[in-house]
This record gives sequence, structure tokens and C-alpha cells, in this order.
Amino acid sequence: MECPRCHNQNVKRLYKLHGKYYCRQCIAFHRVWVDEPYTQDHTRFPPQKVRYSLDFELSKSQQDISRQLVYNYQNHYHSLVLAVCGSGKTEIVFELIQYALQRGDRVCFCIPRKELVKELYQRIKEAFHQIDIGLVYGGHIENINAQLIVCTMHQLYRFEKSGFHLMIADEVDAFPFYGNPVLQQIFMRCCIGNYVKLSATFVKEDIDGEELLIMNRRYHGYDLPVPQLIICPHCLQVLLISFLLKKWKKKVIVFVPLVQDVDKLACQLQSYTHLRVRGVSSTHKHNQDNLMALKNGDIDVIVSTTLLERGITIEDVQVIVYHGEHDLFDRRTLIQIAGRVGRKISHPQGHVYILSNEHTSSIRQCIHTIKDLNQMSV
Ligand SMILES: [Zn+2]
Repeated sequence: MECPRCHNQNVKRLYKLHGKYYCRQCIAFHRVWVDEPYTQDHTRFPPQKVRYSLDFELSKSQQDISRQLVYNYQNHYHSLVLAVCGSGKTEIVFELIQYALQRGDRVCFCIPRKELVKELYQRIKEAFHQIDIGLVYGGHIENINAQLIVCTMHQLYRFEKSGFHLMIADEVDAFPFYGNPVLQQIFMRCCIGNYVKLSATFVKEDIDGEELLIMNRRYHGYDLPVPQLIICPHCLQVLLISFLLKKWKKKVIVFVPLVQDVDKLACQLQSYTHLRVRGVSSTHKHNQDNLMALKNGDIDVIVSTTLLERGITIEDVQVIVYHGEHDLFDRRTLIQIAGRVGRKISHPQGHVYILSNEHTSSIRQCIHTIKDLNQMSV
């Protein structure tokens, strides 16, 4: 016996009800019966003249990848795009979305995290302003029958019966999609044509027969900032951070591994430096207000968990990692954190410091990967 959706064969997770078996492994995404006939409705939309518009021009490498993605889709290849943080990877799929919509294909753009899906929707809506776009995330359903859907990966189960000819998945290396076989199987069930996966931190094991495309340059052409590692005992790290904050006199995000570190460190830094410091984590309130305040210069420092590792852009921000040896700071997380710095053309470079009491393999791999990307000539 096997679940037709998540391929679970573990009998302990197959339950019997009214003489039929259903799967408990993927029950969170509504019940699937083991013998359930599975049909999909592959109806196309009528072809239409859709054109996207941007108020800036794509860089040469963005244009190259954009064209390659259309070519891969025309030839029925899946694509995997490794695009470094701040290289503008959302816009490189617009040409492809336009192509698919013009053919009448159904298109989905999905992303793991709910906090980022609304911003993604806004960017796509600005580019494709003349068409209806669906937006679906936990607690919100809008235009669910539209030809183009923007959603979180958790909501993909709603589209298993219809499916998409083109699926674009951003941040495939991020929690909760990464390492979650149920979400990945649902993704594959929804994909009745070809997919494009986008990420900033691919490792070799992520490649599964797709065409690999690499964008190693940020749109402004500057190198990615390489983290500076400082090996130092925990007891000195707070003093060192205070010293750096006072020396730089710039906006800083200090990343900590655990929620309980946030308020303690924020208090210490505030009393040592007399700067305006706030805490951000999944359990804190006013996170968006505090982010805005940092952007506007109304506060100086945010102490945050890895909640802010992705999707935020703050002009001229510097970052420091506290207790960098912690397991939560794996290679992918550290690369994302370093990627917060130097995103704007007005300040294309900046400081990334990792304070750690030992040299871990994650730190070593993060620094190597960033140096390799800077040296690559693609
Ligand atoms: Zn299942």
C-alpha cells in the first residue's frame, strides 16, 4: 500500500476508516485515500496578449538567463537557477511567465514563507498589471481560479486537481520546503509541465536532472561581501559587538541563534553603546515597525533570530553573527545572512562579521562558497 500523493508506505501512517485506508503523513493537506482515483484537469486558458513592464532594464546576465529559461521551457526541460543574493532573480522569470501566459498555460509562482508572499505578489502585479492574479496563503484566498497564481508552498495542495503547466518556486532551499518530502511531492503533483526552481544557496545534492543556470553577479556588478571570521570566547563577543557598533556608526543587524538571546543581547548592547536597539523574532511584536524604523534611521540596531535571514533589503546595512558556531547557522543560513549586505547600488559593499568560539565546517563552507562565486566568470 502506498499513498498516491506523498508515496508513504509506512503502515503505521496508513489508517483505516470505513473499510478504506488513508494517509496520515500528509493529512495536514486534506485527506487522500490510498485507492483514490487521481485525475487532473489540464485545461488551458485562451491565448492572450500579455506583456509585462518593468521600470528598469535587466542586466546582461539577467537577460541571458531569462532567454535561456524560455528556451528550456519550449524544449520541456526543468531549470534550476542559482542566483546569488541581490542579483535580482525574481525579474529573470518574467519573460518566461509572459511566454507561458500568452500560450494559455496556467502558471504558479510559489515561495515557502508567508511573510514574503505578499511582497512577491505586489512585484508581480506591478509587472503584469493588466491581468487577474490569484493570491493564496494561510487565511487568504483571492482569485483562486486565475491563470497566474502566487501562493505559499503550503497552499499548493489546493491545486493538485488542476495543476500548472509552468511552476516557479523561489527559495527552494528555505524552511519549510527544504527537506520536507510531503511538500515536495505536492509540488511535483501540481507540476503538469515544467518547473523552474530558484535559490541562492544550492549544493550539488539539490540538482535532480534539471538544467543548471548560474547568476553569480549581483545586478550592480560588485563582489558579494566575504564574511570576516573572528574566533573569540562568548564572554568577549558582546564587548566586541559594542565596539564595532560604535566604530561603524551605521545600521546593523546582529543575528543570534535563539529567541531567548534576542532581548538579553539587545539590552546589553543598548546599555554599552547608548544606541537605539530593538529585538525581532517570531515571538516579538512590531517586527515590521522595527524593520521600518531601521530602514528610516529611527533606530540603529536590530538584534534578530534567523527570521530576517531572507527577503529583506536595507540600504547600507552591516551584519554581525553572534555565537556563529551554533548549529542553526548552517552554510545556507550564513550565505543568506551575508547576502543582506551591499544590495543597493548606492552602497554595494559592507561588513559581515561572524563571531564564533570555534571554526565550524559551516563557516568554512560559507566563506569558500562566497569566494568561489566571486571568482567564477559566467
Ligand atoms: Zn500521503
